[in-house]
This record gives sequence, C-alpha cells and structure tokens, in this order.
Amino acid sequence: MPKNKKWSREKIHDRFSSMLKADGTPMSRQQIHMLRKKAQGLCLTCGEPAVGVYCLKHTIAARERMRKKLKYQRRLHNSSSYLLEKAKKTKVKGKAKKTGAKKKK
Ligand SMILES: [Zn+2]
Repeated sequence: MPKNKKWSREKIHDRFSSMLKADGTPMSRQQIHMLRKKAQGLCLTCGEPAVGVYCLKHTIAARERMRKKLKYQRRLHNSSSYLLEKAKKTKVKGKAKKTGAKKKK
C-alpha cells in the first residue's frame, strides 16, 4: 500500500466483525460501521471528531430532527449541543477556527 493510503479492500478483522445481534442474526455492515465509528469517537455520519456520537453539526441536526418528530416545545439551553453551538459562533467571529479549512457557514 502507498504511504498516504489509509484504506484497503481487505476485510477488516476486529472485535466488531461477524458480530451478532441480540436475536443471534448477523449484524448488518452498516450497523458494524456505526459501532466502529463510535468506538473511535468519530461522528457516525461524517467521521469528523465527535461530541458524543455525532460531530457538532450532526448533533444539532439530530436534535432538530427529534424536536420536530417529538414536537418538543422547550429547549434545554444548558445542554452541550447548545453551548458548543454558541461557543463556535463566537469563535468564528473573532479568530479563525482551529481546523481553519473551510470558511463557509
Ligand atoms: Zn458529522
């Protein structure tokens, strides 16, 4: 494999491969993929470093999705997703972000 290549076509053999569900049937590759991401602390959707199970962007997306679905009226403004959202907004105004890759909204 070339030095910079981080993936391969080889099947991954780790503690998640050939895992079984509670009813004894094999877990789908998508479910295993999510478990691997979770174990590495990466976002389940995009693979960025995660806050909980998702990155900030997808934590907010999940929050808003569930709010809509469950018809929540109140917001818990001290929960981590709101605090981080706020912190990020003020940070962008002042200095460039840590990653500094994109300046899009
Ligand atoms: Zn994400």
